[in-house]
Amino acid sequence: MSFVKVVGLTKSYNNSKALDNVSLEIERGEIFCIMGHSGAGKTTLLRVLALLEKPDSGEYYFDGEEVDWNDSLRKSITMVFQIPVMFNTTVFKNVAYGLRIRGYPKLEIEKKVRDVLRLVGLEGYENRKAKSLSGGEKQRVAIARAIVLEPKLLLMDEPTANLDPTNSAIIEEIVKEIVRENETTIVFSTHNLFQAKRLAHRVAHIHRGRVVEVGNTEEVFEKP
Ligand code: ADP
Ligand code: ADP
Repeated sequence: MSFVKVVGLTKSYNNSKALDNVSLEIERGEIFCIMGHSGAGKTTLLRVLALLEKPDSGEYYFDGEEVDWNDSLRKSITMVFQIPVMFNTTVFKNVAYGLRIRGYPKLEIEKKVRDVLRLVGLEGYENRKAKSLSGGEKQRVAIARAIVLEPKLLLMDEPTANLDPTNSAIIEEIVKEIVRENETTIVFSTHNLFQAKRLAHRVAHIHRGRVVEVGNTEEVFEKP
């Protein structure tokens, strides 16, 4: 079975279907892109995959097992949001948060935080106030906070939508590095097809809550 498999996911808000019978399979180690216009259902799909939202119907199999919505897999699946939300403390505490609530020993936390800050290019930023950072730096802190838990699946909802091209390029390099270093599976959404081409192995197009096309990135974009 695929690493991630969803079958017939449906989710409505106010009688309107944000997800309409979505089925997808994603392989381990893949960078998978969800494309679609604003309102197509990308965020809803990612939130369901992140277990932040329960679908009205459908099945979700993760790493060989059907998801139990009451059981928290939340260390195995983490999510980065379009707009990074920083706690009003230091970069160190923002990144360490998930490890601290899980009771990791202090020295291990310090090492893990140091390692992920290096990966996102924020070495030495530990004592900076997270809220004082630039938008690009905040998004990198948000990514560090998500990967410090060593998730098997990392979800990123339009991670560069609010960034300039330079900062977007930095985030794209970080995404590739995460997959290279940790064999993390990444599902991200974008409406930037150049970004999809640069990053993704496979792409799914969603339109009005339905998957209208899925395939290898080259195939999907070379169609007339
Ligand atoms: P996208 O991320 O592709 O822009 P969304 O998943 O955010 O799309 O939204 C899909 C549809 O579901 C939209 O019509 C949106 O208005 C609706 N929707 C999403 N979340 C909610 C919510 N919490 N309450 C009501 N409607 C929602
Ligand atoms: P609290 O306000 O919860 O008491 P502290 O400021 O005492 O938090 O920090 C909690 C722990 O986090 C400290 O024991 C320290 O190990 C670690 N810590 C905080 N900031 C840093 C940093 N910049 N570099 C390394 N470790 C840090």
